[in-house]
Amino acid sequence: MDALGEPAFRGRQIAEALYRQRVEELSSITTLPKSLRDRLTAAGWRVGRPTIAQVFQSTDGTERYLIRCPGPRAETVETVWMPEGDGSELADEEEADPTTRPGAPSYPRPFADRVGEHEPQSVRPGAPSYPRPFADRVGEHESRSIKPWSRATICVSSQIGCAVNCQFCLTAKLGLQRNLAAGEIAGQVLAVFDRQQVEVGRDRVNLVFMGMGEPFLNYDNFMAAVRLLVNEVGLSPQRMTVSTSGIVPGIERFAAEPPEIRPRLAISLNAPNNEVRAEVMPINRKWPIEAVIDAVRQVRLRPRERVTFEYVLLAGITDQPEHAREVARLVRRTNLPAKVNLIAWNPGPGIPYAMPDPATIESFKQELIANGITAYLRKPRGRDIYAACGQLKRTVER
Ligand code: SAH
Ligand code: SF4
Repeated sequence: MDALGEPAFRGRQIAEALYRQRVEELSSITTLPKSLRDRLTAAGWRVGRPTIAQVFQSTDGTERYLIRCPGPRAETVETVWMPEGDGSELADEEEADPTTRPGAPSYPRPFADRVGEHEPQSVRPGAPSYPRPFADRVGEHESRSIKPWSRATICVSSQIGCAVNCQFCLTAKLGLQRNLAAGEIAGQVLAVFDRQQVEVGRDRVNLVFMGMGEPFLNYDNFMAAVRLLVNEVGLSPQRMTVSTSGIVPGIERFAAEPPEIRPRLAISLNAPNNEVRAEVMPINRKWPIEAVIDAVRQVRLRPRERVTFEYVLLAGITDQPEHAREVARLVRRTNLPAKVNLIAWNPGPGIPYAMPDPATIESFKQELIANGITAYLRKPRGRDIYAACGQLKRTVER
């Protein structure tokens, strides 16, 4: 607006129209004078929002989306919707708002028992994917719509592909195709909000920047997206978590962000020591565990906030009881308020690891707890449709 010689408040009006009213055409921004809308259109400006191109539905209610970014290349990126979350958000919610009682669902959960009822399938975008029993009962009670979920988590991508090359991750196989722009990162959230009729300020929706890509290798665009989501869309950064494989310069920049705009931080630890970590995450040779921890220490945590260490259990490689004791020692030594999120490895074609068995997972968790560490096990969501951690981007090119 400045470049066009227009007052700054016109920029605010556009942001308001794009992110609050979610207009889809420049011509619908009625707060702008018609002459200005015409000038913008004539100059080639348009409203280009990412849209859902394809939907894959899991038997567990999870949906994986191919989201098409507008532009000449029409590339797609993957985003995941997890009604009821994956369990890892419960502790976070308590930290963000100690008055919410986790674990008390207040709405019916239509999917809970319907396992195996239908095969994973891809459906037409836009078609509601489950019965919405209350959708038509308008006027029966005040305007708040009742949803078939009481909370949800959206897993957002920051890049197409990833350059980091973790050995257990399917996204790594793609290499880095390109960075996503800030609008493409924030736009994934809006596309899912529209499909699921999420009401900002009412529904309990958490965002995790844990989709395809390494957010801290696309730092500026990633943080610009967070600012859009906080300032323009109106979401709370305390309900957002960014996960990094341990990009030290990124963590250092993150530490300098103002707390009111900073998501929570999760670090993909994934191994009990540098030796194993370097094997499964070659990036560890550049930034070993100690360097990552030193950088994390620079982050000023909010009251009650904890750092999350994610830990992928690879059968025989990272899931043994002695590994749990090493992890506990390591986490204690950091002296940070921290918790560990365990993730059972999700398989992918051509990836030479094995899934840990449930008893081993449980004893790993108990070993951590016995050693004084808070530990959660993340529920695998959408494995049947390749929507679970580390499985994204199997089906982008159709
Ligand atoms: N690039 C970032 C964020 C995306 S990955 C990062 O690596 O942190 C989100 C989480 O999924 C990471 O903790 C990663 O270690 C984990 N992950 C990757 N591949 C996985 C797989 N096949 N099974 C289970 N977790 C996996
Ligand atoms: Fe990239 Fe994260 Fe996958 Fe590693 S785990 S390859 S950093 S997306």
